[in-house]
Amino acid sequence: MPAIAVIGAQWGDEGKGKIVDLLAEKANMVIRFSGGPNAGHTVFNPYGEFRLHLVPAGIFYPHTVCLIGNGVVVSPSVLIRELEQLEQKGVDTSRLFISPRAHLIMPYHTLLDKLEEEAKGSKALGTTLSGVGPAYMDKVARLGIRVGDLLDKEGLLHRLRFVLEQKNTILIKVYGAPSLSLEEVYDQYCQYAERLAPLIRHTEPMVKQALERKELVLLEGAQGTLLDIDFGTYPYVTSSSPIAAGAFIGSGLSPSQIEGILGVFKAYATRVGSGPMPTELRDETGDLIRQIAGEYGATTGRPRRCGWFDAVAARFSADINGLTGVALTRLDVLDKMASIKICTSYKVDGDIIDQFPSSAMILERCQPIYEELPGWQSPTAHLRHFDKLPIPARAYVKRLEELIGYPIKIISVGPRREQTIIVRPIL
Ligand code: GDP
Repeated sequence: MPAIAVIGAQWGDEGKGKIVDLLAEKANMVIRFSGGPNAGHTVFNPYGEFRLHLVPAGIFYPHTVCLIGNGVVVSPSVLIRELEQLEQKGVDTSRLFISPRAHLIMPYHTLLDKLEEEAKGSKALGTTLSGVGPAYMDKVARLGIRVGDLLDKEGLLHRLRFVLEQKNTILIKVYGAPSLSLEEVYDQYCQYAERLAPLIRHTEPMVKQALERKELVLLEGAQGTLLDIDFGTYPYVTSSSPIAAGAFIGSGLSPSQIEGILGVFKAYATRVGSGPMPTELRDETGDLIRQIAGEYGATTGRPRRCGWFDAVAARFSADINGLTGVALTRLDVLDKMASIKICTSYKVDGDIIDQFPSSAMILERCQPIYEELPGWQSPTAHLRHFDKLPIPARAYVKRLEELIGYPIKIISVGPRREQTIIVRPIL
């Protein structure tokens, strides 16, 4: 079996966790390839309800090896807490391994995340303040400390001394904040090293062997395409590449090794944090969607901005990812709507456009042009076959498929594994 990437196709929170949890039943390996503890995948399964921040959603199956790939930035405290919580609920975590090439989130990253956001005032990005952005900045600035460095305590001390000197200068001189103690940070990370050392493995040979054995390997995305550092609504983006191309860089797989790219879209749109969102509903319909769907961030608890499905953004996202299929989640959330809108183009500066603009400033000025479809006003959460969906629900799904331009293969009608309609084979 080949490798399949599961990619968030909107602004994150599409329900990737559920889809990975579902597909992982047949997978022998799940690799998280980007982002950090700013991601929050909610999974409901027979073990209970979980909010996973770093551990791949394949962890619940005894036959599935889970890898945190090189593209992830790891907060040791978040990871250790998450492992403890899983173990307390009876989940075996002994098949989780971390790439030594993944970068560590250090205490100065979380501190600087907060200080930088505060300094930006009304221009703040609305980050989760978990240090992810500053950790990626250090990776690119070649000032990062990697998971593998935990295995060499002397080397770690030298590296930390060098980096911390620079960080303390910034903390004191730029922000007037207190400096961090080398001893304290070092001792803390040596403790983390004790816990995490057995999990650090060269992940690339493990992936190669799994593929040689023809096992199914899933690549688990975090965040969403419209938050991609290159293709998202820059500068209101995340600091990594959640798109399909990022799956290769963040896991060490070659583009020739991925056969399936499944884009996860929810049946409407949400966004957390700042940045343009043309279909945002700042009215009672938006409130209703938020309330029915419980649209509050899994990591921060922040209310998510809600709106109608944006097919202009969706088509762009689908093309950038070169999808081989779509998973459409949360169709059940629209069950009560009398009518449902889909944005098919934008009006901006007197023009009608159907290309997703590269500039966030232009996108900010885009007015959605909608097409309106009748709602179905009946429950769908118990349905398991496409043909059993109410006719208007089928029409809505078909119209979305037409507009996205790629086949819808899975429809999700509830958070649980079984609340799923398989429309076509994934591969
Ligand atoms: P992720 O980061 O993409 O996994 O998304 P989140 O976990 O932040 O948010 C998705 C939420 O939607 C979670 O609470 C899921 O349990 C829930 N969910 C997933 N699929 C469905 C669905 O089809 N219907 C409903 N009602 N909830 C769903």
